[in-house]
Parts: sequence; C-alpha cells; structure tokens
Amino acid sequence: MKKKILVVEDEMQIAKVLKIELEYEGYEAAVEYDGKSGLQAAYDFNPDLIILDIMLPELSGIEVLRRLRKENNHVPVILLTARNLTMDKVLGLDQGANDYITKPFEIEELLARVRSCIRHYAYDKNGSINEDGSMVLHIADLKIHLETREVIREGTQIILTPKEYDLLVYLISNKNKIVTRENILINVWGYEYEGETNVIDVYIRHLRKKIDECFASPALIQTVRGVGYTVKEN
Ligand code: CA
Repeated sequence: MKKKILVVEDEMQIAKVLKIELEYEGYEAAVEYDGKSGLQAAYDFNPDLIILDIMLPELSGIEVLRRLRKENNHVPVILLTARNLTMDKVLGLDQGANDYITKPFEIEELLARVRSCIRHYAYDKNGSINEDGSMVLHIADLKIHLETREVIREGTQIILTPKEYDLLVYLISNKNKIVTRENILINVWGYEYEGETNVIDVYIRHLRKKIDECFASPALIQTVRGVGYTVKEN
C-alpha cells in the first residue's frame, strides 16, 4: 500500500514540485494551501506524514501542529521554514515536530528526511515510550533508544555505524516479517542508490557480528533463503 503524504504549503510552485516528486517516489500525495484546510486534511486524508510549512495563511504551521498534538494525533511532521530562525525550530520541536528543513532545500534531502521519518514512525507498533517521553524499540533482550541512538543487548552497549543503525531499526520495525533485499534497499538506502545489492549482505554480516555473534542469546537476524531476511524473537 502506498504511504500517504500531505503537503501544506501556500507557495504554489513549491507545493506543485513536492507533489510531483513525492508521487514519482511512489507516495500518494495531497496538497493543501492554508493551515485550516491542512488541519482538516490531516483527519480526512489521514496521511502517514505531513510536510508542513510554518508561514501559512489562516493558521500557521506551528498552530496546526499544536492542535494536532493536542488532539493526540502523532502523525510525523516535517516543518518547512523559510527562515533559518532558531526560534521557529525550537517552537516547532517543542510542539512535537519530528524534523524540520529550511528553504531553499534540495529535494533529495527532503526525500531522505521523509523516508527516515516514515521509517521511524513504524516504531509505534514495536516500541514503547519511556517515562521521560523517549522512544525505545525492543526485540528480545535488545533495546534501541531512538533519541540517543544507543543500542543495548544483555546490558552491553553496541557501537554501530550510522548505516548499520538504520538497517537494524528498519529490520526491527518490521520484526517477524520477511523483508526482501529490495525492501531494504528502498527503505534504508533510498531509491537513488545505484550500487550493488550485495552491499546489503555485507551490512547484514557486519550487523550479525555485532548484535548476534557476540552474545549467548539466540540470534535475532535470520536469512530467508532466496528471499531476504527476518528478525524474530525466538
Ligand atoms: Ca509559506
């Protein structure tokens, strides 16, 4: 099923380009041009992610975000700000924005943020929220603290490279499901990656060394021959 993305942006040209690019990447995209309609669409269109401009007619992006969170709507939100103002960012993050990007931006960077936000939102299904509000993803005796990016198994901290970390988060977000190499390539490396797909096997090997082979507990990463990989609690 296509992931749905709502773009709330009053600059027609930017909104139009975003819609085209998002659709090209395989998302279903809807556009609203003011805060009030954007807020309504957050409920009617029920998106998996919102790209929300801050400077909007009717209601500001910050206000839209504040109202969504007040209603307990935790859809991931990436804020767009025209100015590189720390104040906007602080306000936005305070109101529960998941990320922000300053205009003008490179479309590739925005798409990378979109992928990352959508990937992390899958946490809700497999994670839990700590008392301090931070998210923890867990499987068996392995825990990932999403805010600090700490990975811990049997009480020992595991040091991963950023890519290994992204791969592990993706696998655990999809635990008990089989993910193909293509799924991994699209979700962790992004469509634009044009290298060899055996890069995935190399990374899986590294990850196994670090999270499985060093520990007495049963291995978490399993190969599904001819298909891909799965992460399972034993
Ligand atoms: Ca604007």
